[in-house]
Amino acid sequence: MKKQTTFILFAVIFSFFANTAESKSILKDVRINQSENETRLVLDLSEKVKYKLFTLNRPDRIVIDLYQADLGKGLKTNFNKAGLINGIRIARNNSRRIRMVIETSEILFYRLSAIPKNPNPNHRLVIDLKKAFEGSKKVAASSVNRKKFIVAIDPGHGGKDPGAQGSQVIEKELVLKISKKLKKLIDQEKTMSAFLIRDNDSFPCPDNRSNCRQQESLSERITRAKEGKADLLISIHADAFSDRSVRGATLYALSDSRKIRRGSDYKVMYRPKTKNNVKLKSTSSRKSLSRVTGDDIDAQDQSIEIGKHILKEMKKDVRIRKKTPREAEFAVLKSTSVASVLIETSYLSNKDDEKFLINPRNQDKIVEAIVRGLKSYSATTRKDLGKK
Ligand SMILES: [Zn+2]
Repeated sequence: MKKQTTFILFAVIFSFFANTAESKSILKDVRINQSENETRLVLDLSEKVKYKLFTLNRPDRIVIDLYQADLGKGLKTNFNKAGLINGIRIARNNSRRIRMVIETSEILFYRLSAIPKNPNPNHRLVIDLKKAFEGSKKVAASSVNRKKFIVAIDPGHGGKDPGAQGSQVIEKELVLKISKKLKKLIDQEKTMSAFLIRDNDSFPCPDNRSNCRQQESLSERITRAKEGKADLLISIHADAFSDRSVRGATLYALSDSRKIRRGSDYKVMYRPKTKNNVKLKSTSSRKSLSRVTGDDIDAQDQSIEIGKHILKEMKKDVRIRKKTPREAEFAVLKSTSVASVLIETSYLSNKDDEKFLINPRNQDKIVEAIVRGLKSYSATTRKDLGKK
């Protein structure tokens, strides 16, 4: 009840301000541009406008109120499904306000920017929509449905980039060895399969170029994971640090809302309640788990969830530096469409860690722990999705 009062008060103050503005702005046109994972909505207005944006759930909606505004003659007020937008309704809400209700296909990242006219004849409000939880939803679904769970394994560095230097081994060679073992073990599982982002001493570059910049190589690794239809990307590394006494493995993963590029103004529409687990959408609750897809599921931050399961298993056989996944904005962790973890298998700068890492038996222990972690994640997801 209290919330409602605040809202009304807010609206009253807002329209008071709007009253003092000069002329009315006319909403002349509404344009929608869409690509696979992003949709852009552009409102063309005759003048600068005061607006308010808020989001609602059930169904997921973005509402934009335009104050001291009017509908242009012949403007379409109903829009059907386009991209991430399920539909739009525009109506005069009261004498001073136009309300635009945008129903979205799911919870999205959104960004609103106001662009002044000149040289364009119109003042524009641009709303960019982007999928936020695609990777989380996909990995959760694939871990329980009848399709194969596909893992892309990324041996860090390669070619011109050796990575960390130990006294007996360099990182790019060690992580390729471990990655090959991991692929072999995953492929032995009936419900899983794996592929390598690089399977020799090469530096992955776009369009199979022989050379590229570090940043290009990192995004190429994600591209290859997506092209291989990976549900999960596991990047394998070995650390080095100036303090040679530092030891142990670290696992990095990013929560979905931190996968937005730094400096962008995107916000998440709202955080679903299924914070650390997954839930079948009510519309899909009768579906058998063997047939679910990402669209049937509400899920977020599954990269971190998977990381927790892997770490829990690694702890049994490998010295661990941090007990929980650490969040770091590594490029390979930033894709919203593929869940991902990065494992620093431990420190080549530490003598004992290096000795541990170069022993093939210990490499087996690491990859066995990762596979146990994946199976344990899948079992937990199955249990969570089974709950009503
Ligand atoms: Zn590395």
